[in-house]
Amino acid sequence: MYYSKAFIPTLKEAPSDMDNISAKLMVRSGMIRKLGSGLFELLPLGLKTLENVMTVIKEEMRAIDGQEVKLPLLLPKELWIETGRWNVYGKELFRIKDRKNAEFALAPTHEEAITDLARSFIKSYKQLPIMLYQFGIKFRDEIRPRFGVMRAREFIMKDAYSFHATEADLEAYYKKVYAAYEKICQRCGFKYRVVEAASGAIGGNFSHEFMVLADTGEEEIAWCNCGYGANSEKAECLPEDKKSDEKALDMEEILTPNVGTIEDVSKFLNSSAQKFIKTIIYVADGEPVAALVRGDYEINEIKLQSLLGCSELELATPEIIAEVTGAKVGFAGPVNLKKKIKIYADYSVVNIVNGVIGANKDDTHIKNVNYDRDYKADVVADLRKVVHGDICPRCKKEKLQFSRGIEIGHVFKLGTKYSKSMKATYLDANGKEQLMVMGCYGIGVTRILAATIEQSYDENGIIWPTALAAYKVCIIPVDFKNEQIKQTAEKIYNELRALKIDVLLDDRDERAGIKFKDADLIGIPFRITIGEKNLKDGNVEFKNRRDDKSAAKIIKADEIVNLIVEKLKEGEI
Ligand code: ATP
Ligand code: MG
Repeated sequence: MYYSKAFIPTLKEAPSDMDNISAKLMVRSGMIRKLGSGLFELLPLGLKTLENVMTVIKEEMRAIDGQEVKLPLLLPKELWIETGRWNVYGKELFRIKDRKNAEFALAPTHEEAITDLARSFIKSYKQLPIMLYQFGIKFRDEIRPRFGVMRAREFIMKDAYSFHATEADLEAYYKKVYAAYEKICQRCGFKYRVVEAASGAIGGNFSHEFMVLADTGEEEIAWCNCGYGANSEKAECLPEDKKSDEKALDMEEILTPNVGTIEDVSKFLNSSAQKFIKTIIYVADGEPVAALVRGDYEINEIKLQSLLGCSELELATPEIIAEVTGAKVGFAGPVNLKKKIKIYADYSVVNIVNGVIGANKDDTHIKNVNYDRDYKADVVADLRKVVHGDICPRCKKEKLQFSRGIEIGHVFKLGTKYSKSMKATYLDANGKEQLMVMGCYGIGVTRILAATIEQSYDENGIIWPTALAAYKVCIIPVDFKNEQIKQTAEKIYNELRALKIDVLLDDRDERAGIKFKDADLIGIPFRITIGEKNLKDGNVEFKNRRDDKSAAKIIKADEIVNLIVEKLKEGEI
């Protein structure tokens, strides 16, 4: 492409509503334009780069026998009623009506649609396993769209679904997808980690997230040198070690007027937050329950929700708290609750000797409370958020380390969650009806663009890895009116094009400095500069975008094409 013909509307400054580096650089380099909150247009440069990402993904999906399909974005409500997700999915689901008042979901994901497809054709174990995937738009009414295409309301995902006769077959295939995703990360040039994750609204009981490491990432991951890694919302906490030798004292009620927070009460009682047993009343699918955790820790609601197996978990309102405890907010405790409710205790509270709790009475606490003697929980489990200083739950030796990351992919073992509710069955070798076993695997294709930039930029702009770059080479004739320069530029351009290498020839009547700036901003990996002085000796200048200015090399003009072919073959990133 000649630059003068290309639609690459670069900007000197990013608009103020672009709230991270990648969003700023994508807008400034003319890849995308914002149309509304969480809505972006992909311009030619953006789309070309996206297509390169899709090529990488397609090749890896085909390598594991994935077959591409395209499912509608408008999904009938009835399918979502079958799985119960019409209600469970909540406000993130865009819902619309047609002229006959029939309701539809704008697809946020396609488990329902693909299971419907599978159940209508797959009847026998002989048709299994099968993996279908697609590239398509997903709609999610995100509570806070931000970071450009990273968290948009309309974005492109590669979603894949596999169907198996047995759990063991899914297990084996899941490993293949995991390996394919690792290859995709490597080919995109990512520094990444794979971590255990919570399954959220998609469901299933086992999932991994592929995290691109970046300080600007929205996710926090906990990991250990032993190989353990988990999203910090999922990271396990070990049961606490043995009790202290302190002697258990008798329970004692104390008046604590005008002291509400744990900090205040601890100060007032001259004890530490570690002595405090925090009691939080939740409502799980309409039922109030109590969750207990040590005063210096916090309840991890994702862990609590998965333990309870409920679809909705909310903090109780002051009215419900009063009903359950008999007191105002801030004085709940596991002893003498007014209403009998289930108590779920985190490991951290059972070893507290002489703990402090709310007395279920206004302005009153109880001290010297001990587990077993004074109260018992229905379940004791890992219910808290991981904190710095926690020991790795796998090797049980080293302290966990924490990093930030961008989730670009998520793979799930769904099991029979969808096949059960949608009755997707097949006949096994004995002619017996069985539920299909499913896996699903998503990659945020548009998010990959942003994640790559977050890991690969400098003060001048984006630095694309060669595999993804829309144009691999930029030819900059210092003066395109100079006949000799023009001829050399066009010769190299035509040779590269004949080899199917994407190349941009900057034929604009601009100063070389401006052309360099744009090439750097757009992030083109290889730059060939053709100037009068070098050309006298039959030379051109070659520079890799990753290197600084001083690394520019003088190369024979008739060797440059081979050099580039070599570099691309090596897969230089
Ligand atoms: P997140 O926790 O970031 O909201 P998710 O767990 O909801 O992600 P999945 O349902 O697993 O995401 O979707 C698969 C992939 O789609 C994610 O790994 C991510 O790369 C991408 N993705 C999800 N939501 C968005 C969004 N709002 N904008 C762009 N990409 C997204
Ligand atoms: Mg989400």
